[in-house]
Order: sequence, then structure tokens, then C-alpha cells
Amino acid sequence: MLNVAVVYGGQSGEHEVSIQSAKYVLKLLKNGKYNPIPVAIDKQGRWFGDVTPKEFEQNGNGGTPLLFNLTDKTLIKIEDGKQISLDIDVLFPVLHGPYGEDGSIQGMLDMLDIPYVGSEVLGSAVAMDKAVSKNILENKGFPVAPYTTFKAHTWKKNQQTIIEECEKLGYPLFVKPANLGSSVGITKAKDRNQLIESIKFALLYDHKIVVEKGLIAKEIEISIIGNEEPIASTTGEIIPTGEFYDYEAKYIDKSSTTIPANVDEKVTNQAQRLAKEAFLALDLKGISRVDFFYEEKTDKLWINEINTMPGFTPISMYPKLLIASGFTEDKLADTLVELALERHKNKK
Ligand code: ADP
Ligand code: MG
Ligand code: MG
Repeated sequence: MLNVAVVYGGQSGEHEVSIQSAKYVLKLLKNGKYNPIPVAIDKQGRWFGDVTPKEFEQNGNGGTPLLFNLTDKTLIKIEDGKQISLDIDVLFPVLHGPYGEDGSIQGMLDMLDIPYVGSEVLGSAVAMDKAVSKNILENKGFPVAPYTTFKAHTWKKNQQTIIEECEKLGYPLFVKPANLGSSVGITKAKDRNQLIESIKFALLYDHKIVVEKGLIAKEIEISIIGNEEPIASTTGEIIPTGEFYDYEAKYIDKSSTTIPANVDEKVTNQAQRLAKEAFLALDLKGISRVDFFYEEKTDKLWINEINTMPGFTPISMYPKLLIASGFTEDKLADTLVELALERHKNKK
């Protein structure tokens, strides 16, 4: 039986979401073929073994401290003062946001030579940074909403130029920290005052900012599974409860979703094709959720962003879209493990 470590929690603002995702991933892996090992990371970045997401959620810590032994490339746990080596065949980093989805943990796992689910260092880092990923996608001819990007340093020196640059896009504008998720730090600005406030707010979360033209559009999502020959799921549509799909709409009010999205077959096909091409363009691996805007007025599809470790709770789009496309939970677990092993093998 393969030992599959499910790493969850983590240091990002998406710590709580990750705990919920891990509960479901552990359930998927309990299909008799794997020995799932829950591994928690607390908000300070400390690693613990033998603690289920449910226990961890209640205590915020617990379990046995884990250490990395770079000399013999193993993860070891300390029990009664003794060091016990954990034999890990595959690691599933069910972590969202910085340190989990951005290439950090992937780099560490590469150094330890541990196979893992999902994208590698480069793809993870590129997809996490909205400025870099938009720039690459745009240069490769993918449709992305008009945007501008700048750093805190330039903002401090030259606010007026930045404001003018943003205003060229036309209100309403969406102001985003470049490296986050779950809508944290994002606001919609309808005039200059709001723009300045939104920029100051986003700067609390990141030193790099992306400002985008606000679109009046449907939000369509597609799940991708695969490595070199990715498979695209059917479409899902988000119907936000509030003004946009902000943190509250995502996790508190629970916006509604429709599968498949209420769009023409032509739009579905185009989104599926673009999703696969974008996945390959950013050199992504294993899993990703590609998010689109579909502007009915112009019949135009825009790529919003690609999440390399999307939410993985039973009500999350990622697994729901694949299940709606014919994957059983069992097949989903098997495929993710197989893809991780295949990716690891091909890397050499
Ligand atoms: P995150 O990575 O935090 O999910 P997104 O870029 O997906 O960041 O933005 C979060 C939400 O904000 C989107 O789901 C959408 O509702 C809204 N949004 C973001 N950019 C735009 C835009 N250009 N036009 C319209 N709505 C947007
Ligand atoms: Mg995101
Ligand atoms: Mg998003």
C-alpha cells in the first residue's frame, strides 16, 4: 500500500479552507489502496504528524513534531524522544496560497526527492503571481482582461502616474494583491477615491498590485487533470451572492454554483480548449482550476486566473466538476496519485 502524506493547514490566509479540503482528500484516499497520513502545518509554519484535520481544527496544534532530515532525505517524527523515519511514497500538499501553492513547498519536496501531487516550482510560482501569469498568457495570445501592475516602491514615488495608468482602463476597476487567493485583499473601485483606498488596502497584503478593468461577465470554471495531455472537465458557473465573488461570498454566504454553466456549447468548447492550452503554457502539472469571465454582450471569453491547488472540499468546484464529468471519487484519488508518480519519474 502506498503511503500518501496529506499536508494541510499552512501559513497562508487560506489555512482554514485548507483544513476543510484535507478532510475530503483524506476521505478520497481511504479507498483501501492507500495509507493516508495526515500532516498538519500550523500558522507559524511548524509541522505535526498524527493529527487529523478535525483534531487540528479544534486545537490549532497537536500531534507529533515532524522534522526534515536532509541527510537521508526523509521526514522524521519525534516520539518519546526517539526519531522515527516516515516512509512517504507520495505527498499531497493540500495547501492554498503563499507557501503552499506558490512553489515554496514544491521546492522543498524536490530537494527531499519526495513525489508530490500538482505543479512543480516554476508553474506554481508563475500561476500564483497574477502579474506574471497575466503577462505570460497575454504574450502567448490568451485573452486576459486589460490590466496594469506596479510595486509598492513605485506607488510611494509616483502615485499620480499610477492613478492615470489605472484610469485609462476605465472604472470600475478591480484592485488585487498579486500573490493571494480566496479574494483576500481584493476590492472593486468605482472612482478615484475608492481606487486610492483599494490600492492602500491591497498593499497591506502584497508589495505587488494588479489593477484590472472590471468586466460584467459570468464566472465560468473548468477543472484540469493530467500532465502532458491534460483533460478538461465540464464547465461550472459561479453565481456570487454579493457584488462580486469576494471572501464572504466564497465561504460565508456560500454563493450558488451551476454545473454545467449556462452557456452555449461553443463557449464550453472554447473554454475547455483554452483551459488545456493555458495549463500547458504555464507548465502546470497534475491539477488546476482555470477560471474565466464570459462577457455575454461581446460573446468574449477571458481567462481570469489559474489556481494550481484549488479548493478541495466536497462542495468545491474542482472535485465537483470532475465528478460531473464522469470521474468517481475512487478514480479521482487514483489519478492524482498516478500523475504525481509519473511527473516525478519524468522529471529525471
Ligand atoms: P482570487 O485569486 O483571490 O480568487 P480573483 O482574481 O479570482 O482572485 O478575483 C476574485 C473575484 O473578484 C472574482 O471571482 C470575481 O468575482 C471578481 N473579479 C476579479 N477580477 C475581476 C474583473 N476584472 N472583472 C469582474 N470581476 C472581477
Ligand atoms: Mg485565485
Ligand atoms: Mg479567483
